[in-house]
Amino acid sequence: VNTNILTKPFESIETFSWTYLFAFLMAYMIIRSLLIQGSLYLTVTRAECAKKGRIFKLPFGAGQLKSEFIATINTIIIDSILFAALVKLGPNNNIPGNIIFSYLFAFIWFEIWFYVSHRAFHSPALYWIHKQHHVAKVTSPLTAMSFSIIERVIVITGGVGFLTIVSAFLPLSRNGVTLYLLTNYALNLYGHSNVEIIPPRFLKNPLGRILNASTYHALHHARYNGHYGLFTPFMDTFLKSDFNDYLEVQSKAYQGDGLTSLGQRIKT
Ligand SMILES: [Zn+2]
Ligand SMILES: [Zn+2]
Repeated sequence: VNTNILTKPFESIETFSWTYLFAFLMAYMIIRSLLIQGSLYLTVTRAECAKKGRIFKLPFGAGQLKSEFIATINTIIIDSILFAALVKLGPNNNIPGNIIFSYLFAFIWFEIWFYVSHRAFHSPALYWIHKQHHVAKVTSPLTAMSFSIIERVIVITGGVGFLTIVSAFLPLSRNGVTLYLLTNYALNLYGHSNVEIIPPRFLKNPLGRILNASTYHALHHARYNGHYGLFTPFMDTFLKSDFNDYLEVQSKAYQGDGLTSLGQRIKT
């Protein structure tokens, strides 16, 4: 028994065997999904305050939840393999002080990589790769993990694979990258909740515009042809793929006046 596992879990995780690491990550992700996605699902479908803030006041599609549930299981299996590879091959130095740099580096890289790959997936030739994610016209907490196997492999390999290559040249910290991936999970769930909880006045403030409110990505699922960005609006603003009624829809949803059809736009 490696006693380091108990005393220094982050330093010793790469000493796990591939099989043990894969099983450990899969167990972690199954428990995380059951607890977090499960309770979020119950909240958005049952709690009165969440129902009031629904962005699209429409039901889920026929067969949507079953399809997303199966895709979520596939995603967990793929992620367990890819993240085991990240632990074995990726950044393994934990120099204090580079955690913030590594976190920001991963954050910015994912914003760019996600936009580029996502926009490519929306081209007619590649849309088959991305179709599973768009089973949701109205998003659910399960949509956050609903991807085809090939999409997940491409997005995660490009995302963490690039960081692994960079870590040969820059002192990236695995703890910083791990913290980013946890942030990614949380913001991803929020972005697919179909519930608006951010006060609109907060988004009037330039600092409040750094991160997208959940309405931002809800509009991508309903309308397809815009809002390809991940958690910040900058790539869409720069490449002119943003929707000009985002703030109006966001404000109405927050006040309990969500949209009642997928094609609805608010004239500005
Ligand atoms: Zn899309
Ligand atoms: Zn989505």
